Amino acid sequence: MTDRSRLDGHTQELAEIQRIVGEKGWSTDPGVLSAYTVDETKSYRGRSCLLVMPKTAEEVSAIVAVCARAGVPIVPQGGNTGLVGGGTPDGTGAAIVLGLSRMNAIRAVSAQGNTITVEAGCTLLEIQKAAEEADRYFPLSIGSEGTAQIGGALSTNAGGVQVLRYGNARDLMLGLEVVLPNGEILSTLKGLRKDNTGYDLKQIFVGAEGTLGIITGAVLKLFPQPRGFQTALVGLSNVGEAMELLSRLRTATGDAVSACELMSRTTLQLVLRNVPGFSDPMEDVHEWYLLVECSAGDNQDILREILETELAEALERGAILDAVLAENEVQRATLWRMRHTIGESRKPEGVCLDHDIAVSPADVPDFIARASREVHAIAPEGRLCIYGHIGDGNIHFRVLQPDPREGSAHAWDDPDYTARISAAVYDTTLSMDGSISAEHGIGQAKVEKLEKVKSSVELALMRKIKNTLDPQGIMNPGKVLVPCPSERPSD
Ligand SMILES: Cc1cc2nc3c(=O)[nH]c(=O)nc-3n(C[C@H](O)[C@H](O)[C@H](O)COP(=O)(O)OP(=O)(O)OC[C@H]3O[C@@H](n4cnc5c(N)ncnc54)[C@H](O)[C@@H]3O)c2cc1C
Repeated sequence: MTDRSRLDGHTQELAEIQRIVGEKGWSTDPGVLSAYTVDETKSYRGRSCLLVMPKTAEEVSAIVAVCARAGVPIVPQGGNTGLVGGGTPDGTGAAIVLGLSRMNAIRAVSAQGNTITVEAGCTLLEIQKAAEEADRYFPLSIGSEGTAQIGGALSTNAGGVQVLRYGNARDLMLGLEVVLPNGEILSTLKGLRKDNTGYDLKQIFVGAEGTLGIITGAVLKLFPQPRGFQTALVGLSNVGEAMELLSRLRTATGDAVSACELMSRTTLQLVLRNVPGFSDPMEDVHEWYLLVECSAGDNQDILREILETELAEALERGAILDAVLAENEVQRATLWRMRHTIGESRKPEGVCLDHDIAVSPADVPDFIARASREVHAIAPEGRLCIYGHIGDGNIHFRVLQPDPREGSAHAWDDPDYTARISAAVYDTTLSMDGSISAEHGIGQAKVEKLEKVKSSVELALMRKIKNTLDPQGIMNPGKVLVPCPSERPSD
């Protein structure tokens, strides 16, 4: 079935949607649509009959009401930087893609109230800048922040490098405006920090990946603008030392550690080899590196002194092997660029199995040791590229094929072989009461895994909520939850 014929079945609805948004707000051009039907990783490709880009919550509401009447599926899409296929339509061409990028107004900033009210299509960077103009700080920071939108970040409950101190997207949200699957608008944009009046309905849309409604606006928390950052890269021989150092620094600085990122030597090596502009940051090679950053108000000198003293004492005790402190903003930016380019550094390295998992922070060293053992028992030749936000227990545990420059690795083309490797990582995670998706969500990538790891009580409750809000299943179908056989729409 072609996209055109799916579209023809809804000619009247299409015309109605076009009227709602006006001529700037839609496209059926396959050349335009192609960018919206493939995901960031290029692993998920779908089709769609229509891209619609509303400008207001009222327009979103009117579009959704038309779709609900006609049973047309809707795939909400923000910056399309998600890594699990959540914003990609399926291959039938039946769904419309609803892009939020034209809804990018900052509605209000309150420096005194420490809040910012934004439309869902604002990028994280735009929100950071708007906060900065008011001498306030919006801490949600991820590698894709120039493109990722707040609607997408809330829908995936994005984390990033500052969760340790400020929390993830959910923790930064005070209120939401959401268009429900029947077109009604639910608004909780009061920005209250205290409101104990029954069920906290807004929470259900955070992390729902667009399956329960479309976020059109949000009130977010702001913080005092840090006056500076003290940043260090530390060389270590094992992960336990990294956890110990983090714990000491949190105590010594009065919990001023805002980011703490672990990297294995293999991870750093790939950045040095594949991303231009970097040199090895330390003379000696170390098994592990920790990028740690503290931030504070006007007492920068005190903070630096504490960091220097703690690192010097740790060196003396033999608890760390080396440390470099950023002397200026350029050096700090270079260290962070190193961290943020880990994602792209694996591209020329062949097959890469990416596992975004979380365990209790105290279990991180044990998890890394056990998962490494289990993976190497199956694939001794696999290269382990391990990094992540250790303060949150969120580890990106990547397993790469042997260096493609040194010959082919046929086994890695065998899906059964790679599935066994991934199963070893996930089984280890679950055996430690961990999570199979720490920050990227479920999307299409982990729908089947979710069925296996959630209890029957949890799955039944999730389905009840979905069916209550979206009885026709039009909101981002096929993501997060597999419909029960009795609920599958007949084709
Ligand atoms: C280089 C890079 C680094 C990253 N680093 C991190 C990181 O450190 N931490 C982290 O957590 N994630 C990270 N991510 C992934 C992260 O989830 C996304 O970047 C971001 O949260 C998604 O925002 P988006 O606007 O691109 O959403 P999209 O990709 O467009 O959508 C993601 C999901 O949300 C839904 N959605 C989007 N907008 C709305 C809306 N307004 N209402 C309802 N549903 C909506 C979509 O249907 C989809 O299911 C990274 C991604 C990249 C490419």
